[in-house]
Amino acid sequence: MRWYSSEMTRLYKALPANRDKLDNMTMQAWMDSNLEHQGTRDLVRWMILGLNNREPADHSFLSIVTSLRGQIVQSLRDGIEYRLEGGTQAPAEKMRAELGASVRLSTPVTNILQDARGVQVIVSSGEIIRAKHVIFTGTPWTSNKITWSPPLPSPKKRLFDKLSTMGNCVKMSVFYDTPFWRQQNSSGQVIGTVEVDGLFFPACLDNSPLNSSVGVMQCITAGNTSTTLMKLSKSARQDAMVKYLARALGDQALTPFHYEDKDWVASPYIGGGVYPILAPGVLTHDYAALASDFGHVTWAGADTLPLDAHNFGFIDGAIQTGEMAAQRVLKSFDEAVLSV
Ligand SMILES: Cc1cc2nc3c(=O)[nH]c(=O)nc-3n(C[C@H](O)[C@H](O)[C@H](O)COP(=O)(O)OP(=O)(O)OC[C@H]3O[C@@H](n4cnc5c(N)ncnc54)[C@H](O)[C@@H]3O)c2cc1C
Repeated sequence: MRWYSSEMTRLYKALPANRDKLDNMTMQAWMDSNLEHQGTRDLVRWMILGLNNREPADHSFLSIVTSLRGQIVQSLRDGIEYRLEGGTQAPAEKMRAELGASVRLSTPVTNILQDARGVQVIVSSGEIIRAKHVIFTGTPWTSNKITWSPPLPSPKKRLFDKLSTMGNCVKMSVFYDTPFWRQQNSSGQVIGTVEVDGLFFPACLDNSPLNSSVGVMQCITAGNTSTTLMKLSKSARQDAMVKYLARALGDQALTPFHYEDKDWVASPYIGGGVYPILAPGVLTHDYAALASDFGHVTWAGADTLPLDAHNFGFIDGAIQTGEMAAQRVLKSFDEAVLSV
């Protein structure tokens, strides 16, 4: 692992040297050629799955070197340091209450038409909303589901096609009467770096509410395990999860009173989680088209930051890009008024 760590730092610091070479191979190909010890390979696979939610064979090696910024695993402070009271949705719900009817929920956009005067946004009911400018915050996969008129410029369309594979993550939660593991002096954090019964659970943690009224354990699965699990019935998925947890937390884990899961790949307006996956060649050939405007449309969101930004793919990054895009658009309005 020490060699792997220093090699990742060396390759990152040497960039842009070898950029094309590193982008032409997958993370798996690099691991096959460079990591002899099975234990190291397991640990690296665990890190990639935990971080990017797809198998090492899906990623360009350059994208991993770049996104890790010379480290081997992202710092815990990068987006997962805090929990929000009321859930991550709480701030958005508070803002919605303040903004009132101007926020429209369950209103999918189907078409975006634009000409020199501005934009027409058509939603699924057929209603047309007119705007001077649009800030689009969906993932590349959702950008591709919109009918654009005129069509997206080909570099952007090609990039969105290539970024339409998102992380393959399933979030699984089991509910118990109490967070019983705390009585065993356990934090509830369960880390697994190898497959157990053909399934790989990179990380499980105590996700009980702040008042501990119930005990909630949450596992996030990734890669091939997510695909295997989603072929099973919901009760078989619960069974697999509690059997895995019981190995670490004991037999009490076998009898939850409830189970829920969410397959992010099946989420119709997200397309997967946590990030879009960069296959070989995307970073060096297509990526430059990511954040550019298209007429009166500006893209914002966690995935539009540079890949080596510390908050790429995180909520903090989504907020930052949203604020920056709004400021830029408002400034362009001011400049247009001044020039009249
Ligand atoms: C399992 C999981 C765990 C995560 N954990 C963390 C974490 O601990 N910390 C962290 O910082 N980040 C975490 N993230 C990442 C975080 O969720 C994202 O960084 C953040 O949601 C990105 O925000 P965004 O606004 O860029 O995009 P999104 O959250 O994807 O928002 C885009 C919005 O656009 C909407 N939309 C898309 N298409 C259309 C359409 N055609 N019409 C109308 N609306 C549309 C979508 O419904 C969505 O509401 C996690 C993600 C997942 C999946």
